[in-house]
Amino acid sequence: MYIVQIASECAPVIKAGGLGDVVYGLSRELEIRGHSVEIILPKYDCMRYDHIWGLHEAYRDLSVPWYGAAILCDVYCGWVHGRLCFFIEPRSGDQFFNRGCYYGCDDDNMRFAFFSKAALEFLLRTNKRPDIIHCHDWQTGLIPVMLFEIYKYHGLEYQRVCYTIHNFKHQGIGGVDVLWATGLNNEAYYFDYSRLRDNFNPFALNFMKGGIVYSNFVTTVSPHHAWEAHLGDCGYGLGHTLHEHQHKFTGVLNGIDYNVWNPEIDDYIPFNYSPDDFQTKIKNKKALREKLWLRHVNQPVIAYIGRLDQQKGVHLVHHAIYYALQREAQFVLLGSATERGINDWFWHEKHYLDHNPDCHLEIGFNEELSHLIYAGADMIIVPSNYEPCGLTQMIGMRYGTVPIVRGVGGLVSTVFDRDYDNHQPEEKRNGYVFYQTDNQALESAMDRAIGLWHYYPKEFRQLALQGMESDYSWNYPGKDYVGIYEHIRHR
Ligand code: ADP
Repeated sequence: MYIVQIASECAPVIKAGGLGDVVYGLSRELEIRGHSVEIILPKYDCMRYDHIWGLHEAYRDLSVPWYGAAILCDVYCGWVHGRLCFFIEPRSGDQFFNRGCYYGCDDDNMRFAFFSKAALEFLLRTNKRPDIIHCHDWQTGLIPVMLFEIYKYHGLEYQRVCYTIHNFKHQGIGGVDVLWATGLNNEAYYFDYSRLRDNFNPFALNFMKGGIVYSNFVTTVSPHHAWEAHLGDCGYGLGHTLHEHQHKFTGVLNGIDYNVWNPEIDDYIPFNYSPDDFQTKIKNKKALREKLWLRHVNQPVIAYIGRLDQQKGVHLVHHAIYYALQREAQFVLLGSATERGINDWFWHEKHYLDHNPDCHLEIGFNEELSHLIYAGADMIIVPSNYEPCGLTQMIGMRYGTVPIVRGVGGLVSTVFDRDYDNHQPEEKRNGYVFYQTDNQALESAMDRAIGLWHYYPKEFRQLALQGMESDYSWNYPGKDYVGIYEHIRHR
């Protein structure tokens, strides 16, 4: 099959979180399976150009209709660690993607509505006719809408869309100006509850809802989260829409790219290791301590890597820092916040703990450092309020770092409690799970993990090895996505 992925991120060139990892990893898996994959992305000024090979201009003066006129774009082409990517650069005074950031602008809805339109126009003008267009998250929710309402009549009639939702919280909200800009010229028609009108705000259009309604198939990133979004409160108002379209909605657990996340060949860590020489991991722990000015003591290192956001349970992350210090463990945090209050809070903590030899908080985004932390830490905590899939627990396991997680979303499908799991046999258990959102729940899971590390090191090592043996590669999810593509291709 010929598959085009359209997204706002692709690791490592554009990565704000798990979306980037998924777009890259899934594309690679599909290619391994013999399919042809291309990726269309915005050309941000702040992306990691050092990860693109052979960047060159591929298409000049792509004229993208916008507000009844047009914006000219240049499209660049290059390889991101082997994947063929096209980067769209609009030449307009709006400077849509020259803002020094990926997200967080007041006109994000317009920026990505434009990107969606430009991506379709690019396919049309270059005569690219993929079997499948795979879109991701709210940023590309308008693609199936425009494809089936406009572009279908101009030559893209056989394309089928798979739409994957990585986070229901951010849905892309817009007004009638989005319709005017994109050429969806029938207000009453699109402002219908069966199409784009937001389920709870009658004056707003909802991009993600459009994606769900118009796509041929919709997935979210774990089966458990599919259930939570459809029947629980994790759909953020889209539960009813998912219910109406349940025949084409499912959850497919994300994988991680075993080539990128592999302690045996990882270039970012000083000492490569495998389950057979697990003791080498301790050398990375030493290197991590040296890098972050932590003292060398007989204590476990507990890590947190991720966005600092309400979704991630920041209050529990904060509590975990102090609880670890109290319980003779060291703590390393790598995270960044987009919310001002949370950012200030963690900067304050950083200054407060600056001279503590058992703790290091690194505020910011640092791909290279994240690899060393996965390799050097003994445990990783993921105390999320909700977690559609979660990659950090899977990456942690791959590096023999034991996860301590809250039992929600994809975390329940990937981490099985060493002491209490009801379903997996002992040899398949790989971490610690707690369920409540209070400090005591977190503490009890941390106690068990720290206790095992201090008093039963052999058993702790066995648990870490069992995590390393769990298979969370793209192998199974890759197969599932190919099955979905085949299913919708013939319709
Ligand atoms: P989400 O997509 O909700 O942000 P995931 O757990 O699915 O969370 O994916 C997070 C990805 O982003 C992982 O690859 C993780 O290593 C990476 N990551 C998150 N924060 C940082 C950071 N501050 N520095 C480096 N990598 C980060």
